[in-house]
Amino acid sequence: MQKSKTIIVVGGGYGGINTAIGLSKRLNNKDSKIILVDKQDYHLYYPNLYEVASAEEEFTSIKDLKKSLVLPFKELLPTAIQFVRGSLEMISQKNNTIKVDGKELAYDYLVVALGSTIDFFGIPGVAENSLTMKSVNDALKIKNAVEFLVESHRQDSIKKLLRIVIAGGGFTGVELAGELINLVDIVSWKYHYPLERIQIEIIEGSGQLIPGMSAVVSGAVLHRLKNFDVSVMLNSMITNVAPKLITLNNGEMISYDLLVWTGGVKSVDVPMAEPGKTDRKHRCMTEPDLTMTGYNNIYLIGDNACIMDKHNTPLPQTATQAIMHSDYVVSALTARIQNKKPPTFVAESSPFIIPIKGKWAVLSLPNGFTMTGFIPWLAKIFANVRYYNRLMPLNKAISYAWFETKLYTKND
Ligand SMILES: Cc1cc2nc3c(=O)[nH]c(=O)nc-3n(C[C@H](O)[C@H](O)[C@H](O)COP(=O)(O)OP(=O)(O)OC[C@H]3O[C@@H](n4cnc5c(N)ncnc54)[C@H](O)[C@@H]3O)c2cc1C
Repeated sequence: MQKSKTIIVVGGGYGGINTAIGLSKRLNNKDSKIILVDKQDYHLYYPNLYEVASAEEEFTSIKDLKKSLVLPFKELLPTAIQFVRGSLEMISQKNNTIKVDGKELAYDYLVVALGSTIDFFGIPGVAENSLTMKSVNDALKIKNAVEFLVESHRQDSIKKLLRIVIAGGGFTGVELAGELINLVDIVSWKYHYPLERIQIEIIEGSGQLIPGMSAVVSGAVLHRLKNFDVSVMLNSMITNVAPKLITLNNGEMISYDLLVWTGGVKSVDVPMAEPGKTDRKHRCMTEPDLTMTGYNNIYLIGDNACIMDKHNTPLPQTATQAIMHSDYVVSALTARIQNKKPPTFVAESSPFIIPIKGKWAVLSLPNGFTMTGFIPWLAKIFANVRYYNRLMPLNKAISYAWFETKLYTKND
């Protein structure tokens, strides 16, 4: 009889938790032992960060907001998965061990899903002078900073133009701008500050919003944001940031009161005794079956993996990609442990739903189909239910999605 295999999954984000839960459904505990390692004790549902960053406590409580995006592992993980809370310090490929907070754990198979970190592209002054959008604390800081900005100017006899600049017009920048419209509306009313004296502005380096998406999608988003008086500067690369002052590549200087950096992310640097080749976003290059070159018992997935599509273009770092990778790793590892031939990984583009203020979104399918309005917004709620249902029973997934929808529509 074959010895039971230990599978360690490091990182309990989109890629990691779906791998661990998927494996626990497919393998029995005689064949395998599954360990999930994360430095946090919860799974973070990133798309809800925008709502937290733009929520007003007049309508919602911090407790409810946190509940809507933090899913504790103890409520999600079946007993077949052992959870270890700690930070991964090193992977020793030759010994098949990892070090977590000084303790060694041995594996037969390792799945690395540690996600990404903010990329400031080395632009001087950005890290020191901007807020970012990657964690619950980041989102709360943005919300508090917007409120503080308006509150601290409410006594001014001459109401100056308060400029909230979002640097980076990708997915994060445009969705955040859309949600901040609501917050600005509420705080202007709360502190009697004229709404027309608060400006939300996006600065984007390329010639369109959401680079990489079709002109139809980016045009629809631009139109939606402009309808709500968000100002958008395209073809404007930021080269330097000082307190209250941004310099662009054409020499132009732009003043700001609050700066949020949404310019991009890069993979965290995976700590490995024998590091592999990485791309410019610090992602590890993988073999076609998502294993690390030279180590076929180590899988790299999600934001840590650089995977090429059929046009040899790297696929984006998104949750939908991370989930696709995890589904593949579950099938491949199940087959290998059961001594069967693993399937072939097929890199596919994924659909996008981009909600922009209120009950409105853009849906974009890989075949080019695009739709805007209420139906895509509704589709986003169904997508949320579908996602939660991967992690919990359907009745719980529906009630969770209902709870967050009720909470967030109060702000709209
Ligand atoms: C604000 C925001 C909104 C987004 N919205 C969308 C969206 O609507 N749709 C979409 O497709 N994508 C979205 N994304 C992108 C998406 O969240 C990521 O692509 C996705 O989370 C990647 O999954 P992952 O498993 O690679 O990493 P993550 O989900 O980030 O998980 C990484 C995990 O690793 C843990 N970890 C990190 N370092 C260590 C360590 N040293 N030791 C132990 N544990 C560690 C972390 O605690 C975390 O739990 C959004 C991102 C952001 C920031």
